[in-house]
Amino acid sequence: MNSIKDRLQAISNELPDDCTLVAVSKTKSNEAILEAYEAGHRDLGENKVQELVAKAEALPDDIRWHMIGHLQRNKVKYIAPFVHLIHGVDTPKLLREINKQALKNERVIDCLIQVHIGSEETKFGFSESETVELLRGNDLKELSYVRVKGLMGMATYTSDESQIASEFRKLKDLYNSLGDSNLENVVFEVLSMGMSGDYKIALQEGSNMVRIGSSIFGARG
Ligand SMILES: *Cc1c(COP(=O)(O)O)cnc(C)c1O
Repeated sequence: MNSIKDRLQAISNELPDDCTLVAVSKTKSNEAILEAYEAGHRDLGENKVQELVAKAEALPDDIRWHMIGHLQRNKVKYIAPFVHLIHGVDTPKLLREINKQALKNERVIDCLIQVHIGSEETKFGFSESETVELLRGNDLKELSYVRVKGLMGMATYTSDESQIASEFRKLKDLYNSLGDSNLENVVFEVLSMGMSGDYKIALQEGSNMVRIGSSIFGARG
């Protein structure tokens, strides 16, 4: 289990067929990413725009790049031409900017709404009621160059597994409650929750996209 390939394989084997594994390569070298690529992996996640752009330029074109971190509005333009999925949409203004840059690039950009489910105050994201307001509101109807594909959330960093489970459950309930509504520019398919430390709990609570870094690439320095 010492190679990136082995660890990727081991984790993939634990996931249900309909669950996408995003290998989070932030701070890791292009060589490490190529190892994952050569093992057949195509979904990679980064949390910094500059690093994401540099890696996308240097690495094969068929990698699907996921922007998983906090995204500043003035940096959307750098990733708009190629980003596969933006996980961390945390304000309506950011969504409008993504729409604007998507239009410029004549493409639709897939996004997830980041929902604040943890108890930490520093984490970004919409509250549950703000999420409902955004998705059911009128503003989103105008944004035809974004497609809201689902929700993303991060549980509190704690060893209390029942707390983590209940936070993920909250997100899954919200996802379910919105998923069957017929909303414009919304196609609910993705529930992005779970990282190295808590993805097993996230899977139990219905995640279909996990974002895993250190368990694949090793601890970050
Ligand atoms: C870094 C990061 C991850 C992966 O974290 P690991 O603990 O290394 O698996 C997942 N999601 C987000 C938003 C991150 O920033």
